[in-house]
Parts: sequence; C-alpha cells; structure tokens
Amino acid sequence: MTDSPRQTDAIVVGAGLAGLVCTLELLRSGHSVLLLDRCRPEEVGGLAREAFGGIFMVDSPEQRRSRIPDSERLALEDWLRVAELDPEDEWPRRWAEQYVLRARDDVGGWLRKIGVRFFPVVNWAERGNYGDCNSVPRFHMTWGTGKALVTAVWGAIRSDPHSPALQVRFGARVSELVIEHGHAVGCRVVDSGGGEGEYEARATRAVVIAAGGIGGNLEIVRREWPTERLGSPPAQILMGSHPYADGAMHEEVKRVGGNVTHLSRMWNYADAVRHPHPQREHHGLKLIPPRSGLMLDPDGVRYGPLPVMPMYDAYSALERMCADERKYSWMVCNWKIAVRELDVSGSQHNPNMRERRPVRFLLGILLGKPRLVKHFLEGSPDFVAAPTLAELAARMNAVTGEDAIDPARLSVEVSRYDETIARGKSLHNDDQLRRIAQLRNWRGDRLRTCAFQRIVDPRAMPLLAIRLQPMARKSLGGIQTDLGCRVLRAQGGEPIPGLYAVGEAAGFGGGGVHGKRSLEGTFLGGCVFTGRLAAAAIAGAELPLRTPPPSLRTPPPPVV
Ligand SMILES: Cc1cc2nc3c(=O)[nH]c(=O)nc-3n(C[C@H](O)[C@H](O)[C@H](O)COP(=O)(O)OP(=O)(O)OC[C@H]3O[C@@H](n4cnc5c(N)ncnc54)[C@H](O)[C@@H]3O)c2cc1C
Repeated sequence: MTDSPRQTDAIVVGAGLAGLVCTLELLRSGHSVLLLDRCRPEEVGGLAREAFGGIFMVDSPEQRRSRIPDSERLALEDWLRVAELDPEDEWPRRWAEQYVLRARDDVGGWLRKIGVRFFPVVNWAERGNYGDCNSVPRFHMTWGTGKALVTAVWGAIRSDPHSPALQVRFGARVSELVIEHGHAVGCRVVDSGGGEGEYEARATRAVVIAAGGIGGNLEIVRREWPTERLGSPPAQILMGSHPYADGAMHEEVKRVGGNVTHLSRMWNYADAVRHPHPQREHHGLKLIPPRSGLMLDPDGVRYGPLPVMPMYDAYSALERMCADERKYSWMVCNWKIAVRELDVSGSQHNPNMRERRPVRFLLGILLGKPRLVKHFLEGSPDFVAAPTLAELAARMNAVTGEDAIDPARLSVEVSRYDETIARGKSLHNDDQLRRIAQLRNWRGDRLRTCAFQRIVDPRAMPLLAIRLQPMARKSLGGIQTDLGCRVLRAQGGEPIPGLYAVGEAAGFGGGGVHGKRSLEGTFLGGCVFTGRLAAAAIAGAELPLRTPPPSLRTPPPPVV
C-alpha cells in the first residue's frame, strides 16, 4: 500500500524528458514536486529513452569546430519556411524565435552541464529536395542516444540536494484535472500499482501536463489525418510512439477550457517497417533507408522525375507515398548498399552508440552494419532478398499479396539507373546521383554513402527490397501555451491559472512550434526548452528569453 502523496508545490504529469527536465528545474529552485506517470519504473523517460538523440542547435561549438557557418538568422529563415505558419499562429511563431535563439545555450549548454556529450560531427538531417529545409547540418547526436539524455536528467534529479522534496508515483494515471475557482489545484489519479486505487493529488502552485502527444492513439491519428495534403488515412499505420501517448490529457485540457490546436499537424514518417520483434500493437521502426537505393511506387515504378530520396524531406516523401491509395513504397537496393547505408532511428538498434562503445561504433561506420541488415532480413516481414530481379519481384508481390510488381518493368527501372551510373561521373545526369555526390561531400555522410553503387552488381548481391509504410510518430500540434508554458483558454486566450503544458503535449511550445513541418532534432530540444521555461515561470523567475534583434523579428500577426 502506497501512502497518499503529500501536498506539493507542483504536480508534473508525465516522466518523459519534458516532465523530467521541468521536475529537475523545480527542485533546483526549491519547490516540492509530485511526479506522476502511468508507466512502469523502468520506462521512466518516455519516448526519449527510445530516441536516436539528435538535437537541433544553432551556431553550436560542434558546428563552429566543423566550420559550419550557421546563424540565428539562417536557422530562423529555414524554420519559418518549412513551418508554413498561418498568420494567426502567434504563439508558435514566438516559440520558434525563442527556440532558435536559445537552443545552443539553454538546451545544449544546459545538457552539457549535467554531463551530456554530443558527437563532434554534426549530422545533416532534412536538407530538402531543393536545399529548402536545413541549409546546414544542425542535428547534434547525443553520445549515448536518447537514453543518455534520460540517464543524465534522471541522475541529476536523484542526486540533487533537494531530491527529498520529490515524490514519484509510477503506475499512476491521471484521469482528471481538478479546477477550483478557475485555478488548477490538482488532479485525480488512478493507481495501477496496487496502491490506493484512486485518489486526488493537490498542488499549491502548478499542475504541469507533460503527458506526450497523440501518436500512440491511432484512432486520433486517423481522425485528425490531414486529408487535404495526404488523402484518406492509410488503412495500415504503424505505431512509432507509445500507447501511453493516447491524447487523453489533451481531451482533459479541452474539458477544462484550455485550447488544443493543430492536432492534424503530425510528424509521421514514410520510411517505416514492421518491427522484427514487436513490443506493442502495430509496432513500427523508422528506418534511415539507404540513399543509394531506388525508391519505387507500389507498381515498382521509380518516383520521378524528381526522385524520392530518404532523409531529404520527410513530409514530401509522405505526400508522394500517400498520393497512391495503397500508401506504401518500395526501396530496392542490394546487400552492399544496405550494409553501408541502412540504419534505424532509435536507441534500440544502435547499441554501440547507446552503450557508448567508441571503437565498435567507429567500426560500424567504417565497415557497415551487416548484422543489422541480417536482423531485418530474418525478422521483419517487410524485408526480402533474392539473387535476381525476377525473383525479387515475386518476393515483393508475396509481401503485399498483390501482383503489382511486374518483373520486366522493375528491370527497366533498375537498368536505366544502373546504366546512368556506368556512363561515369561526368555523365551522371540523374538527380539522385547529383545528391549522392553532394552527400559524399559532407564528412558526416561520406563514409555512410556508397560511391555511385549500381543495384545489379555481382559483387554486391543479393538484391534487397524493403516495403516502406507510413508510421505515426510525433504530434506537431498540442495544448496552446504562452512563453511561460501557461495553458491558454480556448475562449479569450487568457492563461488558466496554475495550469502548464510542456513537451510534445504542448506541440513542443505554443501548441505547435513547428507549424506543418520540422527540421528534425527539434523534439528532444523542445522538451528540454519547454520543461525549463515552465519551471522558471512557476518559480516566478525571469524566463531565459531573448528579444529577437530587429533583423530577426517576424511581422506581428494581423489582429483578428
Ligand atoms: C524511436 C524514436 C526516435 C526518436 N528520435 C528523436 C531524435 O533523434 N530527435 C528528436 O528531437 N526527437 C526524437 N524522437 C521524438 C522524441 O523522443 C519525443 O518527441 C519526446 O521524447 C517526447 O517527450 P515528452 O516528454 O513530451 O513525452 P513522452 O516521452 O511521450 O512522455 C510522456 C509521459 O507521460 C506519461 N503519461 C501519458 N499520459 C499520462 C496520464 N494520463 N497520466 C500519467 N502519465 C501519463 C507517459 O507514460 C510518458 O511517460 C524520437 C522518438 C522515437 C520514438
């Protein structure tokens, strides 16, 4: 039997990265905290525990050392271009400005102080089909993946001198917010840990919603699916979040008058496969598919004339996939390409980075990852291999149960590409090959990108095909907040006293700091940033914000 929690200064609902950061900062400012999470103790850290650990930062020490000339102006231009914010998205716009201005010091710098280290080579995610997303590399890989972030923050909490002021309850699902005289004063908790059954917890200063997004509830994902850009929701959507991110707290915030915005803005991926060893229903994995493979539509026709190339523009890849009602794609490559280029976004399939084994990690970059490819070929029903294109076509058809892949057509597509490669670099008149050349110019990608590798090549066999499907991952929309993370009312836009929201629950700031698209790495960063700002606001401290210089200031939204 657990004791009823003592009344505290603040209740934090959710022990994901955002909730943990907020908890740590509240403890440091001398506040008592009740941290509630429906998960099991070993799941503390939420999705960050499974995350790859890339963090978007601007003009960082790692970028400077690599002579990447980034700037706040450039980063904000990139951010706002991909975000396509609507004129009324005032809070997302302000959050975007602040994130870009503060990410280096108040996200990266803060994490460094608690022992987090970043890989010296900055990755270049989302560079855009036309160079129109990240102008420069900004994806800073955490040494130890997302798990190291959780370990660092959780470790800092446990060792903080104020930690006796913290009560933690796992197996504690918050079912209701308690509002008295318009103020948030607590919540109702259902205890699945064999404790008190159901109880009310109360806080004198704040209730912080850090309960994650809606990506774990495929019903909501389908309901909110952005049909105007992606057509009808796919019949099959893989799950790339966790079932705890069920959107129930969003509903609860709505019930008490809070504004939940832009749920139809989601960061779902077009390059996922079924998990070889699923731990949850529809469990999917986001691949980092080979750039040297050919992306084909469900009929085996290469996307064109602009090719689809993984890791360039995730949203556009999803649009291309979803333009066909069957809503899946194929990646065709070979063993050699897959071993060198295939990866998975997440801590689970990157054990050497996760466990910080530098030698094995470097060997993986130098020699590729044959074990990873074998693991997927043996375990994921979306991977097939064959010695010839005709046999590959038959196996692809067996995966889908359709007869859509015509071996002759597949052979035409592959030969055309292979023949272009065979003509030699100076005659590489193919957009994918131009991009491969550019990839190999960046040292973060050179070793992980084959040098113009043909698909049918006796030295690179067998041939591989990977069926890629849509997967729900991150919620870009969420609970609307001001820069102090105070939840704003749907009517009138005033804050609900005592109620705060952080992390994915708050659309990583303002109910949707990303607008319609992300530059990647902005999610973990957004959790740290919102968690810190909420704690500062609750403590009544000055928020670590900066007034954007006039050259950066975006025009104010029109008065509505
Ligand atoms: C495999 C993978 C790789 C990723 N890689 C990256 C990356 O490289 N870079 C990046 O920026 N982002 C990445 N992300 C995204 C990022 O990890 C998440 O967006 C982020 O961790 C969300 O953190 P959060 O604290 O807001 O929410 P969550 O991690 O979802 O935590 C919310 C917590 O709230 C709890 N909860 C929910 N409802 C209730 C309730 N009613 N009562 C009590 N508790 C509740 C949940 O149990 C959970 O522990 C990745 C995600 C995944 C899955």
